[in-house]
Amino acid sequence: MPTPATAVVTPVARLAYVLQHFWQAYPSARQVAIGYEPAPAGVTVLVGAGSFFSEKAPYPPAPTWRNWGGQPVPFFFDAAPDAPLLALLPGAATINVDVIAAAFYLLSGWQEYFSPERDWHGRFPYAASVQKLFGFVAVPVVNYYFEVLKTAVEHVLGQPLPPRRWRGAAFAGFITHDIDSLHGGWGTALRGALRRGNPIEAGRTLLGKATGQPAPWNNLEQVQATTASFGAPSTFFMLGSPQPAPNGTANADYSINSALLYRLRQLEANGSETASHASYGTATDTARLQEEIGQYDGTRPNGNRFHYLCWEPRHTPKVVAQTGFRYDSTLGFAEHYGFRNSYCLPFFPFDFEHGQAHTFLEIPLNVMDATLHHPNYLQLQPAEILPALRPMFREIERFGGVATVLWHNDHFDPANTTTGPRQFAEIMGYLRQRGAAFFTGSQIVAELCDL
Ligand SMILES: [Zn+2]
Repeated sequence: MPTPATAVVTPVARLAYVLQHFWQAYPSARQVAIGYEPAPAGVTVLVGAGSFFSEKAPYPPAPTWRNWGGQPVPFFFDAAPDAPLLALLPGAATINVDVIAAAFYLLSGWQEYFSPERDWHGRFPYAASVQKLFGFVAVPVVNYYFEVLKTAVEHVLGQPLPPRRWRGAAFAGFITHDIDSLHGGWGTALRGALRRGNPIEAGRTLLGKATGQPAPWNNLEQVQATTASFGAPSTFFMLGSPQPAPNGTANADYSINSALLYRLRQLEANGSETASHASYGTATDTARLQEEIGQYDGTRPNGNRFHYLCWEPRHTPKVVAQTGFRYDSTLGFAEHYGFRNSYCLPFFPFDFEHGQAHTFLEIPLNVMDATLHHPNYLQLQPAEILPALRPMFREIERFGGVATVLWHNDHFDPANTTTGPRQFAEIMGYLRQRGAAFFTGSQIVAELCDL
């Protein structure tokens, strides 16, 4: 893959992009000037990136690790590692690490835009990421950089900056379901019945399939009821095409027809949202994605997530923008839970061609069921799942972020005992107990963008 031609990403553009998000996280911080030039009553950031951003290499020098709030945090572009992180002066503050450059590098997804590494599905692999290399995938490092900025601003202002609240709650939950299959599950049910030595149940399963009963995974109403029992609305991402991809990867085993649309309207009447699960291949094909959206008869979905979490950093943001979505929720690593852009709040992806933010919101994906137990991903035992995820959720709670969970409808099948309904219930029970407020994707956009 050749290095892409892009607009020059100037220091001014980087500062504007980072401050746009800092102000979204802490709205009252706008009153204080932040920049590289020393300001008499503001926050000065030490320049640390040198010529890195004009050279277009994917990886910066290794970060230094500094203690912040009792925790080691990696700081990229640390030009003065012996200087204190923060120097507080009367009415002003200096940050001795280039947290603007570091935040820009991670939040913009610079590494995946300039790296040629892709996996079989065309995705930037977790194995090629700085998160893997330096071991911080489950730490929202950009939020820590923002906390340093916030502390400096609070010093200048002489008053604390309140964090964002979500309908009064300290953090938000976004519970999502990608619907890849509505007609499957017979084989799983039959094998389960036989394994349990229950011939009557096995016979009933065979009869159900033979007489055209709804398949075990035709369970949207049950998924909604289960999610609602934890006080959360469901956002359903419906796969836009039943045609397999040219490389043989399966898309939907159902079509978006009038009967299904009627069902979705019923689910919406009960508080759900219908979003688009763009089929395999559309991450680089706006025309095909537009066709898929055309199936909705004028009720265009606001949101999207790509099947297989496909995302080509050099094309996909433009596809999402051109298709007119208000939000996307694809950006997580399939191979590991955590923070792909090292940030736990929704953000506006960077438009490398125009040197500014896109206008659609990315609600980053933190954890997908299949990631937790899969031959290619992690192999957690059921009892290990919630303990593994809890530190990540704690970070989201600390920074007032959004916990985005993807639990496919087939993982609500009781036959799934590794990443099934029981593990979903444990995660939901934990989020509810911690006081998360739950939202659909469009409700999150409304909270952040005043729809
Ligand atoms: Zn999918």
